[in-house]
Amino acid sequence: MDRLLDVVQRTWGYTGLRSLQLEAMTAALDRRDSLVVLPTGGGKSLCYQAPALLSDQLTVVVSPLISLMKDQVDRLLSRGVPAAFLNSSLDTADRNRVQAGVARGDYKLLFVAPERFAAGGFTRLLEAGKAGAFAIDEAHCISHWGHDFREEYRDLGQLKDLFPDASVHAFTATATPRVRKDIIEQLRLKDPALLVGDFFRPNLRYRVERRGDAFEDALKIIRAHPGAAGIIYCIRRADVDELAADLKRARVRAAAYHAGMDDDARTRTQDRFAAGEVDVIVATVAFGMGIDRADVRFVIHAAMPQSLEHYQQESGRAGRDGQPADCVLFHSGQDYRLWESLMKKSEAADLDERKKLLSAMYSYCTGGGCRHRRLVEYFGQAWSRGPCGACDVCSGSLAVRPDSTVLAQKILSAVARTGQRFGAAHVADVLVGKKTDKVAQYGHDTLSTFGLLAGDDKPAIIGWIDQLEAQEILLREGEYRVLKITGQGNAVLRSQAEAVLHVAGPAKAARGKAKTPDEPPVDAPEEVAPSADDAALFEQLRQLRRRLAEERGVPAYMILSDKTLRLISKQRPATREALLAISGIGTIKLQEFGKAFLSAVKAARE
Ligand code: ADP
Ligand code: ZN
Repeated sequence: MDRLLDVVQRTWGYTGLRSLQLEAMTAALDRRDSLVVLPTGGGKSLCYQAPALLSDQLTVVVSPLISLMKDQVDRLLSRGVPAAFLNSSLDTADRNRVQAGVARGDYKLLFVAPERFAAGGFTRLLEAGKAGAFAIDEAHCISHWGHDFREEYRDLGQLKDLFPDASVHAFTATATPRVRKDIIEQLRLKDPALLVGDFFRPNLRYRVERRGDAFEDALKIIRAHPGAAGIIYCIRRADVDELAADLKRARVRAAAYHAGMDDDARTRTQDRFAAGEVDVIVATVAFGMGIDRADVRFVIHAAMPQSLEHYQQESGRAGRDGQPADCVLFHSGQDYRLWESLMKKSEAADLDERKKLLSAMYSYCTGGGCRHRRLVEYFGQAWSRGPCGACDVCSGSLAVRPDSTVLAQKILSAVARTGQRFGAAHVADVLVGKKTDKVAQYGHDTLSTFGLLAGDDKPAIIGWIDQLEAQEILLREGEYRVLKITGQGNAVLRSQAEAVLHVAGPAKAARGKAKTPDEPPVDAPEEVAPSADDAALFEQLRQLRRRLAEERGVPAYMILSDKTLRLISKQRPATREALLAISGIGTIKLQEFGKAFLSAVKAARE
């Protein structure tokens, strides 16, 4: 334990460990297999990097993200950790150099892509290099039940045969209980330590709104966070390009990022964001894995993502520094249909599975339960808190429909008239008056409730049904999720009890209906504002950092993070010891940059 804390302090400058990091590291040191599920930003990398430093064997890190490996390795090297990577981007000379290094035992950590294992001779190389542990990053990629299955990951099932003495440690940010089980089975983990972190991120303020105009929606939130870092996710590349261009025209320091751009352009954008030259990235899902900008103050979804796994991961990139951040999701019923058609077009083998994930995402948007709770429970954790205090539902900022009870009665009538034998989708079809085959087959188009909510759309109605379920007015039963009316529901039908239904997000887009007067404002971050002097010093330190970065030809964040600079500007250390006590500064950083930053602080004092 002491040795661990010591190496973490010396190499990374961290003064403590985060939740479950110690347990994960202990498993690695004990050479016990493990599955570590921590939310994005939870600090997974440290869980395998720190033990690797204390081991005399090689730790092999398997990651699908080739484009990030160089960066990860550079960062380790800048902390004095011997590390290397092997992937298709290396030329023959470099590959030979690294392979020789592995065979000689030069490295503590070796990063490789999963497809490496298919290459001849690789296993022998790792044997020669005394590979003692494997860390599998993004381990959910091995499972079909996840949202990001990758064929290459299948081969990793052989690791246990090939290296019977090595321990295998799986890491992921997103794994439902079913995916977890699958990871353990596929990787054939032996009696693994199962470490599942807390997915509740109280500093993230979640909110869902119906989309009006994507540009204006986004701008409103950007304006509430002047100069702060943010990410905006869109579904399609064309949407990314258009929104980024519009924002630039509105003088927002924005940049586009998607898979249609070439590697260089993407790397440049990523670096400029990391260096603070770009504030807002407009991106498709391609952006974000491994982004190490901890001070992202907002993540906007300009449209609904395709699964809660995606949403959790993408929105989780906000506020990794623990400071308040806003996660706002804008959606419309069109998003569901767009995803559905994209999925059909992609001819995915797991189409049904993916549609289920999509439906769960959709009901998050339209349902009326606490957002935090919904996310936490989705990932298999029980919710033992009361209202979260950090979402639109719990803070009561959602507009309540004035005619809630009447609306609920209409929905309940449709459930009753169809005999309490059908699921939400069918009941919604009846209410909007859609003559589907099923509606015709059961003669439900002749019911008095047919077309009773003809002016509303089906997604909104399903959302209200979700809300009624949350209030125990309706319940879903059995395999077919058939809707039943509860005792409370009967009371509502007889007007002896009330229902509260909110429009899914502020009602601005609810066609033709009255606009709700009070849209919830995006409140400013609750952090204590730095004094003017601190802010001035912070700016000077940033300039110093930029100069140091330029001299070395590395991105600015590789020198020191914003958070560390902010701490320096606030605490104004006068000695090397005081500087070393600041989070983010270890002995290596101290050696390299200590003098420069101490003199900048001193100059500000004079
Ligand atoms: P994940 O891979 O789980 O998303 P990372 O490993 O990228 O998370 O870590 C997220 C951020 O937290 C990084 O900036 C990292 O430097 C920081 N971090 C990790 N562990 C600690 C710790 N014990 N103390 C302070 N900062 C930490
Ligand atoms: Zn809540």
